[in-house]
Amino acid sequence: MAVSPIGMVVKAEYIWIDGSKPTQKLRCKTKILPNLEEVVELSELPVWGFDGSSTEQAEGHASDCALKPVNFFVDPIRGYPHVLVMTEVCDPLTMAPHSSNTRSPCVDMADKHVAEECWFGIEQEYTFFDGIKPLGWPDNGFPAPQGGYYCGVGADEVYGREIVEDHMDACLEAGLTFSGINAEVMPGQWEFQIGPVGAPDAGDELWIARWLLYRIAEDYGVSATLDAKPIKGDWNGAGAHTNFSTKAMREDGGLAVIEEACEKLGKRALIHVKNYGADIESRLTGAHETQRWDEFSWGVSDRGASIRIPWNVAIDKKGYLEDRRPNANADPYVICKLMIESICDL
Ligand code: ADP
Ligand code: MN
Ligand code: MN
Ligand code: MN
Repeated sequence: MAVSPIGMVVKAEYIWIDGSKPTQKLRCKTKILPNLEEVVELSELPVWGFDGSSTEQAEGHASDCALKPVNFFVDPIRGYPHVLVMTEVCDPLTMAPHSSNTRSPCVDMADKHVAEECWFGIEQEYTFFDGIKPLGWPDNGFPAPQGGYYCGVGADEVYGREIVEDHMDACLEAGLTFSGINAEVMPGQWEFQIGPVGAPDAGDELWIARWLLYRIAEDYGVSATLDAKPIKGDWNGAGAHTNFSTKAMREDGGLAVIEEACEKLGKRALIHVKNYGADIESRLTGAHETQRWDEFSWGVSDRGASIRIPWNVAIDKKGYLEDRRPNANADPYVICKLMIESICDL
């Protein structure tokens, strides 16, 4: 790497979540940290700011918002010693969390229940687009109907694998708790999984993994969307199944605790659905491996249920549950906060 006459610098990519509605988006900008060899501690990363009037987070006459670093990762694109910095948006005068800041309430809820040792595993589905059509789709019309694409292999089945592999390597280099990838049911659609990991880390890591996905696909001239139902009709939507466990669920006798949690989730079903991402009614239709958004059910191995108890969990009689309802475009901080609240707090 070239060393400039003024010495070493660290390029710190400050990443934050904006105020876009109905779905908040990622934003980023680079801060040069001069005369620094590497970042060892969070406290070495200064508070920064941005123009909130351009991100739906402030009015023009009082436009400044503050960026408070809350987590950092090795930047796998620029390489060591450069970093990706997850930040929270705050009021510049008081440093109180901005109204668009969903991480702060997630941290409060997670802190309250550290003793339960909640873990999350989030399955992020997404769809690559080449201009206005999913990657690999014909210019006119549709590809062959769904059936062979899920976990497929071969140039006639999967599109964009080199991007997916690059993204996986980048997530691992960044040190994320990354657990796997697979091609999805609709051609051009893929999934990666983050976890199992606690909160708010599951949220930090998923947002950083999303940022890396957009950023890496950019180099291929491809865009990635988290749209819940990118193609209308007989094509699967995109979700963010969230696997959840507490220490008690993972220990002997855990299945009873899991079943109790399913009942608790049922009591607050609509609160969850309303906070699980924009356009959720178009995805949770009762078809395409979903339960309807306005119905609630749970069951072993049931992919048409709201909550699934995986077969291995039913056999072991302990483990975790899978909430199948969150959309691909859901905010993981909101999901984690709600799950801890419904299962551990109420
Ligand atoms: P599916 O069979 O639904 O496709 P995946 O294998 O894609 O499931 O994802 C399962 C996720 O659950 C992974 O991210 C994994 O890390 C996570 N997971 C495994 N065990 C636990 C657990 N005890 N608590 C929470 N998450 C878990
Ligand atoms: Mn999966
Ligand atoms: Mn999937
Ligand atoms: Mn799943």
